[in-house]
Amino acid sequence: MCRRVMTLQMWRGVAALTLFMSVGACADGSPERPNILLVFTDDHASHAVSAYGSVINETPNIDRLAAEGMLFENAFVTNSICAPSRATILTGQYGHLNGVPTNYDTLHATTLTFPKLLQSAGYQTALIGKWHLKVYPEGFDHFEVLRGQGPYYNPILFSADDSVSYEGYTTDIITDRTLRWMQEERDGDRPFLLMYQHKAPHREWAPGPEQLNLFVDQEIPEPGTLFDDASGRTSAALTQEMTIAEHMSPRDMKFVAPANLTPDQLATWDAAYGPRNEAFEAAELEGDERTSWQYQRYIKDYLRSIASVDENLGRVLDYLDAEGLTENTVVVYMSDQGFFLGDHGWYDKRWMYEESLRTPLIVRWPASVNAGERNDALVQNLDIAQTFLDLADVSIPESMQGASLVPLLRGETPPDWRDAIYYQYFEYPGPHMVRRHYGIRTGTHKLIHYYEIGEWELFDLEADPDELRSVFGSPDYAEIQARLAMRLDSMRTHFAVPVVDPVPYER
Ligand code: CA
Repeated sequence: MCRRVMTLQMWRGVAALTLFMSVGACADGSPERPNILLVFTDDHASHAVSAYGSVINETPNIDRLAAEGMLFENAFVTNSICAPSRATILTGQYGHLNGVPTNYDTLHATTLTFPKLLQSAGYQTALIGKWHLKVYPEGFDHFEVLRGQGPYYNPILFSADDSVSYEGYTTDIITDRTLRWMQEERDGDRPFLLMYQHKAPHREWAPGPEQLNLFVDQEIPEPGTLFDDASGRTSAALTQEMTIAEHMSPRDMKFVAPANLTPDQLATWDAAYGPRNEAFEAAELEGDERTSWQYQRYIKDYLRSIASVDENLGRVLDYLDAEGLTENTVVVYMSDQGFFLGDHGWYDKRWMYEESLRTPLIVRWPASVNAGERNDALVQNLDIAQTFLDLADVSIPESMQGASLVPLLRGETPPDWRDAIYYQYFEYPGPHMVRRHYGIRTGTHKLIHYYEIGEWELFDLEADPDELRSVFGSPDYAEIQARLAMRLDSMRTHFAVPVVDPVPYER
């Protein structure tokens, strides 16, 4: 790959010169720096992607990326919650260093991020959709973002000098605006970074008008752990507040429509949910029957929200094809974390358990990545910044804590690639009341320390992939437990985790 790192000022100086360089190659004959399109969703669990083996839905357009690129089978986050994951992706750092360990924290405007570095290196940079960091988006030539979570319908998009109200479904509108940017603003003489970021399928899982009636006559399979009583784990698993049985709101269950629908949208909504609500009242369900009903209600809306994301991704991929951009555009599909899809009886995320720790991560780059590859290396959202900088031949700051995935994409996993990941969740007290914890996950085991309450869990992921029975303290696991505990300590040192939490216990 040719090296063309330069400041914005340098870039302006040579912009005219590059017009004369052959399209698709550098002056020395090495390939042109690729475009980067990050397709980012919110709370999309990998077990709701058919390329990852979902048994509850089909995602044909995401699957297409997997069929034409590389699917990472073991992609994890450093902290399974929205804003901290986004900050880690942007900075290549854990939350205890980048200043965003919880959703309450703000990314500092001067923090080093990959969009700023790519912009300085001559990339045209754009961000459209959900941003969810309480700071002006720096490093973008153009942005249109929701404020905070944003609504599922009729969003306002904020740009540098304007705010525009749109009528319609937010997933469609974010895609419309993304396509418009590519059609009208993309500079064909420079590579681009385009961050196309959906709100969906975040709670409260409000489907679009085209998906309202998907799955109506189907029964979605229940996960095997829907009625898990957490008896094999610590007290932390008993004191959370994220059960399908007890912690769904009327809005989650669609007994209440979204607040900001137009009269026409509300009529369409009521035509779909009104009869379903009446059916529920008639049934007067209780106990496990009610949990099963609420699971169906929740999971169908979650999957409907994903169906729209997938359809809209298809529109974007078709555009890349039509414009001849597919070959040298790196398309990354990922979420900010996973989600419990009724697993352990829960929704939401936050835990170091597999369902929320994992994220889908699929990379298509026909110019350099073989089609249909599956990679089982342990990779993380921590690696994205370094990967994108590497793709653009930009020097990687020493302060970044991940590793570039580019060697893996080329089929050359380094022999010293990581054999364990470090995780930490800080947001207690907070929504859903998940205790603070940190831990280590290797290819076969996971050790979790709920450090506020002095409890531990150890899971043998091969014998107990659903993590139903902690074997912490079992003589059979004494050796592995001791080894993991030592390794956990050394990882905390390596990643510069402070002894005292940077997050106050009272706000
Ligand atoms: Ca999220």
